[in-house]
Amino acid sequence: MVIVHRTMVHRAGFVFHSPEVVNVPFCGQLNRQRPRGFLFGDAMLVHKGHRIQLQPSQAQQVVFRQWAGAYRWAYNYGLERKKAEHEATGKSPGAYSLMQEVVALKKTDEYAWLRDVAKSIPRIALMHLEEAYNNFFRRCKDGAAKKGYPRWKSRKRSKVVLHLEPDTVTVEGKRIRIPKLGWVKMTKPLRFEGELVGTVAISERAGKWYASFNVQTEHVPAEKQGGAVGIDLGVATLATLSDGTTFENPKAIRRHGQLLARAQRQMARKQKGSNRWHRAKLRVARIQKHIADVRADAIHKATRYVADTYSLVALEDLNVSGMVRNHHLAKSVSDAAMSEFGRQVGYKVGWEQGEVTTISRWFPSSKLCGACGCINDDLTLADRTWTCDCGAVHNRDQNAAANILAEALRIHRGFPVTARGGDATGRPAKREQTCQVGLA
Ligand SMILES: [Zn+2]
Repeated sequence: MVIVHRTMVHRAGFVFHSPEVVNVPFCGQLNRQRPRGFLFGDAMLVHKGHRIQLQPSQAQQVVFRQWAGAYRWAYNYGLERKKAEHEATGKSPGAYSLMQEVVALKKTDEYAWLRDVAKSIPRIALMHLEEAYNNFFRRCKDGAAKKGYPRWKSRKRSKVVLHLEPDTVTVEGKRIRIPKLGWVKMTKPLRFEGELVGTVAISERAGKWYASFNVQTEHVPAEKQGGAVGIDLGVATLATLSDGTTFENPKAIRRHGQLLARAQRQMARKQKGSNRWHRAKLRVARIQKHIADVRADAIHKATRYVADTYSLVALEDLNVSGMVRNHHLAKSVSDAAMSEFGRQVGYKVGWEQGEVTTISRWFPSSKLCGACGCINDDLTLADRTWTCDCGAVHNRDQNAAANILAEALRIHRGFPVTARGGDATGRPAKREQTCQVGLA
């Protein structure tokens, strides 16, 4: 199994130096805007995620599915009540008063089944609903194109997931104790030491169960040997760095892509809803999950190397709102990989106390000649190398990475640059290095 670790924080890293901030109690478990880390001498307190595969018994799986249903029920109950109250009175009840309603319902015969559900499940569902409303109102205020009004949780659309409050579970070696259910086996112990924060999410994917933990843990930033680096993210090559380091896409992705296509064709030939169709569907889901795991592993390794090595990291801003959505599958998958790469660079470089600079998406990084500054408008996506009128021969990705670095250094004038990171003109250093990553 591939370990996926992530952070709940989606913004670029900020370090809070004020010691008062450290003592602020953890206010609101669902506050996604909270700072990424606190400086604590040399170490930082950061939130690290760890997803571990579970080995629940058949009976425990049944309970998990029921509880996932209870989570959806509480969410939908809150949504319905909010809508009804808003129509009647113009105000809508908050998570706390909705929770009191749920507690009252528990005492009725009709909702007796709620008593068998872990207490924190409806509570977290209602907090998630509150958060969805807050996000909706914020987007309305910001005038966003997509407001995203909270939707019903449906069994078909939502993945099977339930959330538990961290102080209600106990993790001990390779097992986790869940209220009203008892011990559930895990395939490996929790990797980080520290306090559990956020929620513990139990979810099902491709027939397997996982628990996702967020741990507040101490992190000592790496000693970085490289200076500044520019990164070009691409389709053919996962990432090209301005100093010549490249990260290839794992070969397994391509191979499994062919397997996936065949499995999908086989599924299409089966009678929808039949046993054979369900088996074929599970097989498709398993291959999809394997590809996603391999890709995630490659991105984690590459971004870890970048965060451990460089103190200033420049890359293109990939999260521009209004970015054209691409419906071509391969393209949208690589777009997703690129934005995931950018997200991970954001928080990992933050942990290592480096700096990330994003360059406008409209900066012509590929078309610009790093030697003379001309723009080559004839450059197409298929051109892997090109020759400028000035005589310079460029590797497309390498040139783009160097241009991204040069642009970042223009913004950060005066940043110290070492030989590994390229010189102040942004031209790459002579050294060439290739890192093959992934499971292939
Ligand atoms: Zn030129």
